[in-house]
Amino acid sequence: MYNIDIMTLFPDTVGDMLCESVLGRGQERGYIRVNTWQIRDYTTNKQNQVDDYPYGGGRGCVMQAQPLCDCRRHILETVSPGERVRTIYMSPCGKVFTQEDAKRLRQDYDRLILVCGHYEGVDERFIEACVDEELSIGDFVLTGGEIPAMAVADAVCRLVPGVLPDEECYTEESHWDGLLEYPQYSRPEVWEGRAVPEILLSGHHANIAKWRRKQSIIRTRLRRPDMYEKLEFTTKQDKKLLAEIEEELNEKQN
Ligand code: SAM
Repeated sequence: MYNIDIMTLFPDTVGDMLCESVLGRGQERGYIRVNTWQIRDYTTNKQNQVDDYPYGGGRGCVMQAQPLCDCRRHILETVSPGERVRTIYMSPCGKVFTQEDAKRLRQDYDRLILVCGHYEGVDERFIEACVDEELSIGDFVLTGGEIPAMAVADAVCRLVPGVLPDEECYTEESHWDGLLEYPQYSRPEVWEGRAVPEILLSGHHANIAKWRRKQSIIRTRLRRPDMYEKLEFTTKQDKKLLAEIEEELNEKQN
């Protein structure tokens, strides 16, 4: 079983969200477990205050190291022998999270402790003493780490065997192998005058697979040149597809 522990000021919100849909079923079936922990329960003051003013002045408040550290310590007491644990602070200053990180976290660990900051963030000494890595979900700032933690938990948990019906559910999706996914269609065949590409109705699996790969390559090239640059096309089939794509794009331009 893969465990995710989320340290937060809003455990109910986070817990409710991760109990729905695929992840909810994954928990019911015992493939994953998501635990939420209320950081306020680890304060030592009467008001259960978790934050205080920042040294050096400035606006807002900073989450103190002590309740965060004690909460994490309590979680660590519940870790089973041999469980590989990683503590991650969700932070806009962290490395931007990618599908590769999701794969790595799924493979290299059995348990993630995700720390959600709030206010102006957390005391740096907690990060130095207790955090293994910092992850950001993008170059923008949110009010709290709950949405980032849910994003990481979701991306990692859906890779745990058994959570999705089979591996192809994620290996054929965007970002798995550096490509964006091809366009998808469902019923009806014609919607508001727009028809589904004929090839998808042909029942010819090899041709459909070829069409889909071509669409993936085109999409990635046009929408994400940064990803496209990193791709290596080595097979004969791919090289043929690339030549076709070049020709089609040139024709469109002229
Ligand atoms: N003062 C911080 C800064 O400028 O870097 C921002 C603090 S933010 C308002 C409060 C909390 O939200 C952070 O401690 C972090 O846990 C979370 N957070 C905000 N944006 C995030 C992002 N892009 N990725 C991950 N966590 C984020």
